[in-house]
Amino acid sequence: MKMKKMCSYIVVFRDITDLEEAELRLGEFSRTIRQERENLETIFMVAPLGLMTVNKSGTIQKVNHSAAEMFYRDRVDMVGRRIGDGTRCMKKGAGECTEGLYCDQCFFRRTVEEVIDKQREIRGIEFRQNIVTPSGEEEHIWLRISAVPIQLRDENQAVVVVEDVTVTKEMAKSLIKNEKRLRLITDNMIDAITQVDSHGIILYTSPSIWHLLGYNPDNLVGGRFIDYVHPSDVEEAMSSFQHRMKTWENFTSEIRLRRNDGSYIWVEASGNVILDEKHQLSVVYVSRDVTVKRQAQLEIVKSKEAAETANSAKSEFLANMSHEIRTPMNGIIGMTNLTLMSNLSEEQRENLTMVKNSGESLLRIINSVLDFSKIEAGKVSLESIRFDGSMLLKRICSPFKIQAQNKGVAFNLNFDDRIPEYLIGDPNRLGQILNNLIGNSMKFTSEGHVTVSAEVYQRSSGSIHIKFSVEDTGIGIAEKDRDKIFRSFSQVDGSITRRYGGTGLGLSISRQLVDMMHGQIDFTSRKNMGSRFFFTIPFKEAEEKQNVMTEGGYIEIPKTSRKLKVLLVEDDRVNQTFAKNLLKEQGHIVVVADNGLKAVNTLILDDFDIIFMDIQMPELDGVEATKIIRQRLRLDQVPIIALTAHAIRGDRERFLDAGMNGYVSKPIKVDNFFDTLESVLQDSERQVQQDTQIKKLIDGIDSQSDDTIQNQEELQQAFFEIMGYSDMLSEYLNSRDFENIERTAHFIKNLSQTCGFYELKRGALRIELSARKEDVNQVKSSFDRFMNRVEFLKNQHGTTGLLG
Ligand code: ADP
Repeated sequence: MKMKKMCSYIVVFRDITDLEEAELRLGEFSRTIRQERENLETIFMVAPLGLMTVNKSGTIQKVNHSAAEMFYRDRVDMVGRRIGDGTRCMKKGAGECTEGLYCDQCFFRRTVEEVIDKQREIRGIEFRQNIVTPSGEEEHIWLRISAVPIQLRDENQAVVVVEDVTVTKEMAKSLIKNEKRLRLITDNMIDAITQVDSHGIILYTSPSIWHLLGYNPDNLVGGRFIDYVHPSDVEEAMSSFQHRMKTWENFTSEIRLRRNDGSYIWVEASGNVILDEKHQLSVVYVSRDVTVKRQAQLEIVKSKEAAETANSAKSEFLANMSHEIRTPMNGIIGMTNLTLMSNLSEEQRENLTMVKNSGESLLRIINSVLDFSKIEAGKVSLESIRFDGSMLLKRICSPFKIQAQNKGVAFNLNFDDRIPEYLIGDPNRLGQILNNLIGNSMKFTSEGHVTVSAEVYQRSSGSIHIKFSVEDTGIGIAEKDRDKIFRSFSQVDGSITRRYGGTGLGLSISRQLVDMMHGQIDFTSRKNMGSRFFFTIPFKEAEEKQNVMTEGGYIEIPKTSRKLKVLLVEDDRVNQTFAKNLLKEQGHIVVVADNGLKAVNTLILDDFDIIFMDIQMPELDGVEATKIIRQRLRLDQVPIIALTAHAIRGDRERFLDAGMNGYVSKPIKVDNFFDTLESVLQDSERQVQQDTQIKKLIDGIDSQSDDTIQNQEELQQAFFEIMGYSDMLSEYLNSRDFENIERTAHFIKNLSQTCGFYELKRGALRIELSARKEDVNQVKSSFDRFMNRVEFLKNQHGTTGLLG
């Protein structure tokens, strides 16, 4: 059979849309994969962590920038190298592991190899690698690696994450080191550190507490710190703790803490308030054992007290001794003076003058000792009275002038005429300083001159600084002896005492007096050339001339036409005779009583014009006797003058308070004795006149001249006012309002003074002084006496109805 001609085609159509799509998708897919790979590659390369892949022989397959930078290498350069070589391991160059191939020590390599071998990932392994920097230096870095096994191109590999943790590692190391150091310090310190919370609970205490108190620190934590404080110190410890908590102030307190054995030690605890991160307040104490220091301090205080007691006993003894010697010495000198006034033969006069001179120089020494011990005991108070400066200087210099003349030494006195006529200060103490300085110059100068000067140094409102200087051409003082000069009982050397005498007290007293007067004293001197001592003292300037204190040079009994009947109350025979003779010399009648009791008895029977009253007497002392005279005998008018050996601060008030009118200090100075007598008499006379005037005005007798009437009216008005104020006083007294009592009494005092009601003025002064002392009993008794006086005036003259 013949093959038939093929005339048709079979066309097969196949839908290849899917295939093309699949190819298209494949192309797209592989593009995406490529893209992803590129992305991954980029991420790998720029990741801020060091990344590398390593195969099982430890060869770096791929490495990113961060890892390359870590090891100072180029990324491309690292690929294909073993880890040791690629990371520039330091040992590589040392032949231990040439090119890192055989480096068994390489922890890095071994770790990564193990990950691949065991197909087990590792995380955060830290180790130290020593690498070589490009400049050839060795550098130690700390690496932290994490590695994961992966299968790459049919090969077991590992992806390694590498971090340089050197900084963190070093920081942690130094923290640990610091902590160790701190622990070492706190464990070994002698002081203990304790932290206490705001409730007083112990939060921490250093091991040193063991040494300090003998407790195990762990046993203390959680307890209350106050439980270890001595019961007597609990209050102080608590209050300082609370104060600290409140004010955040850091301060130190000394308290006693109980040791484990029950004994107590003194601890100085310095506390510091801190605020922790949780905003909780606590106090950190550093406590130190100060028991030994406390004991030493106690010893010092005790020895100081003992020394002070001994010193004050010494001063007291010196003061008593010199006082005891001074009293009879005054008697001797006084009697000698009196005898010198009588008719004597030339020889007797000469002998007695020698007795007088020796007595006086002995008295000077005793006076120095007494002064010195009184100043040391703080018993000297300065006066503030008006005096004539120029006259004072002249009076002081005049005996020295005669002495200088006899020695053949020139004596000059320069007085600056800008110095005001009258100054306010203590002329006696000023005189004492000058006397001492001039006396020294005279003593140590045998030729040349002694010059005394007073000049204005500085002037300010109301006060004037005057510079006094005493210059001589005597033996002078060597520079090396400068420091000795103002010390007590100190002379330049022993030969001075032998040749010139003296006690070595004069300059010491002078300096103390100048200090008390707020001045300065110093000197310049050259051995064998002379010395110049100078001091500057501020004075107040006096405005008026009245009440000027004038000082007589030698004994002279003032004349008087008045004949008085005097009661002299004095137990010491010498003083008794001296005062009696002085009074008799002036022409008075003197009755003597040996003690206060006898005086009171005498006064019951007899009248006197004036009483001199010793203070220290057996049986009944002067102050008590005066109180009886004033209160029980109701002898208001008769003036009483105290005779006192201790004219110290506060005495004046005590005497006035008892009802005395003035005082004369013993040893009796003739001038002072008669001056006081005179002024007390004048006061009392004024009082009598005043009483008469009041009597007149109250009785309405004297009403002739207009002038007088006006005056009388004023006086009457003043008396009414005083009565009004007295009522106020009584009220203030009930409410113990001392301030107002003092003020009102002061006012009454001034009012009484203006009107010349002297007795009332004294009464008011007594109230004022006792109110100042806040002594209620004294205020009461002073007030009662004052009111008695007011009542007396009122009753005596009230019949006319003018006052009632
Ligand atoms: P004294 O009573 O011994 O004079 P002072 O305290 O007044 O005591 O003086 C102490 C010492 O200072 C004297 O002993 C003397 O050595 C020295 N001195 C004081 N004034 C002078 C002076 N003007 N010239 C030389 N030495 C003086």
